[in-house]
Amino acid sequence: MINFNVPPIVGTEIDYIRQAIENHKICGDGAFTKQCSKWIEENTGTAKTLLTTSCTHATEMAAILLDIKPGDEVIMPSYTFVSTADAFVLRGAKAVFVDIHPETMNIDERLIENAITEKTKAIVPVHYAGVACKMDEICAIAQKYDLKVVEDAAQGVMASYKGKALGTIGDYGCFSFHETKNYSMGEGGALLIRDPEDIERAEIVREKGTNRSKFFRGQIDKYTWMDAGSSYLPSELNAAYLWAQLEKAQEIYDDRMKTWNRYYEALKELEEAGKIEMPVIPEDCVHNAHMFYIKARDLEERQKLIGYLKENGIISVFHYIPLHTAPAGMKYGEFRGEDKYTTTESERLLRLPMYYGLEAENVDYIAEKVKAFYSGK
Ligand SMILES: *Cc1c(COP(=O)(O)O)cnc(C)c1O
Repeated sequence: MINFNVPPIVGTEIDYIRQAIENHKICGDGAFTKQCSKWIEENTGTAKTLLTTSCTHATEMAAILLDIKPGDEVIMPSYTFVSTADAFVLRGAKAVFVDIHPETMNIDERLIENAITEKTKAIVPVHYAGVACKMDEICAIAQKYDLKVVEDAAQGVMASYKGKALGTIGDYGCFSFHETKNYSMGEGGALLIRDPEDIERAEIVREKGTNRSKFFRGQIDKYTWMDAGSSYLPSELNAAYLWAQLEKAQEIYDDRMKTWNRYYEALKELEEAGKIEMPVIPEDCVHNAHMFYIKARDLEERQKLIGYLKENGIISVFHYIPLHTAPAGMKYGEFRGEDKYTTTESERLLRLPMYYGLEAENVDYIAEKVKAFYSGK
């Protein structure tokens, strides 16, 4: 059986977790948290990174920092994970969904302007599969209407747009280190902060609304409750796991890229024969092989393909149910404009197994089975 995902393990995780325990520092903001944050800052060029308990929480922090209030509107794709919307809905905002580009499954920036009202506060582009949205255009719209940009870069660690790391282009960027992502700490994430002026409040929000971070740096002699906040600081045990991964980030990246390219080469002929569609990587984008997906003709064909692969010991999965069609999406959100691609393209999309260490023989076997399914069709 070939699983869809296997959490990444590079081998040093257990040593680092043991070190954290032996150092008697298992709550947050210890040596491993600092090393991970520094790594992200050096490798992305962001002004500041705060490790968080998840990407969902990083996005919640961004919503708090932007003072999102009931009645505000936030524009995002409907084709995304629930967290993109949840973080803003929790603050009382309405999620306003617009359609996507079928080639990349990313928000169609040309549709954003029509969805803007007096109530709009922010745009949340989601870099699907680590392939960047059209950030120049999105940032230009944000500037024109005085909106903030929060990048959902959950899938975008080690990917870039015109040479800029994803997560560093908008006002805030949100990374995920969930076990299904390229680099993991079990559950975890990071908030990337572009403007140095926002750093102090972000630290306060993450530390239950207190200025404890400043206190620990010795900048003040007692700490106190300064603002509304929550508990978004991850444990050192998780950070220790992540540090093992970040140290080997290039190795993980290269391995995933090898798998991605092997799938692409093997399945190209099916695309050329007009049987499937493959991911498109625009020129401005360097992706990170977060996922490998193909598109079947329609929902029915995709479901049959999932069944066929399963019979052959291969687990493939689909996502997302468009948020505007989900119960909470209907309650807290609204689709503006026409749903030309969101639903139909989401019904066609199929993700093939993709993880660090997936063997080349298995990639070949999976590609062979996909081809076998289409032979004669
Ligand atoms: C995984 C993911 C999230 C949520 O990440 P967590 O760290 O699990 O909170 C949010 N948005 C997108 C697009 C994701 O893929």
